[in-house]
Amino acid sequence: MVIKNVNLETVCGITSKLPKNTLPEVAFAGKSNVGKSSLINALVNRKSLARTSGQPGKTQTINFYNVNEEMYIVDLPGYGYAKVSKEVAAKWGPMIENYLHTSEQLRMVFLLIDLRHKPTNNDVQMYRWILSNGFSPVIVATKADKIKRSQLQKQLKLLKDTLKVIEGVPIVPFSAVTKAGRDEIWELIEEYALT
Ligand code: GDP
Repeated sequence: MVIKNVNLETVCGITSKLPKNTLPEVAFAGKSNVGKSSLINALVNRKSLARTSGQPGKTQTINFYNVNEEMYIVDLPGYGYAKVSKEVAAKWGPMIENYLHTSEQLRMVFLLIDLRHKPTNNDVQMYRWILSNGFSPVIVATKADKIKRSQLQKQLKLLKDTLKVIEGVPIVPFSAVTKAGRDEIWELIEEYALT
């Protein structure tokens, strides 16, 4: 994808109505600090379009980035940040579920998992929501540059076993530092969301 223009078109809080978009949507979900903003910035070749870890977990919004007037990148609220209030922590689930449930344009959901750590219960929950809403997830294993080559297979196995990843679900190791995996993510988007 050649990025011509990107803009943050809609920001939805818990009480806002979701937009009735007509272009295809591709959503990104993951724990706070997993590298979601860095991934979105890398995908659209911008340094700081999506926020990076200023105040992780504080803003519980769904952000819609219009890309080339062709599609939306949908940034779902990060979850699992320990320091948010109970009230904020309780919001991400219903917000995400409601979006997965009601969006008419959502074509695919990327679930980001930090390759260095065992997926959390929230990650498992998120993975199940994606499946139970009828979407086939793509898993992005983030911060791949931080893993030694010798550890890669072991960490991938931990990820697959913990989430009980079913056959055929793509797992793309990604690094925002080296940009490894970026092209593969765009190829998947073009194949499954834009054709
Ligand atoms: P978010 O909370 O999921 O949006 O995560 P951010 O994109 O803000 O990233 C959280 C932290 O991890 C920041 O300090 C990033 O610089 C760092 N980070 C994100 N992606 C990578 C990566 O691929 N490699 C490395 N080494 N650090 C990363």
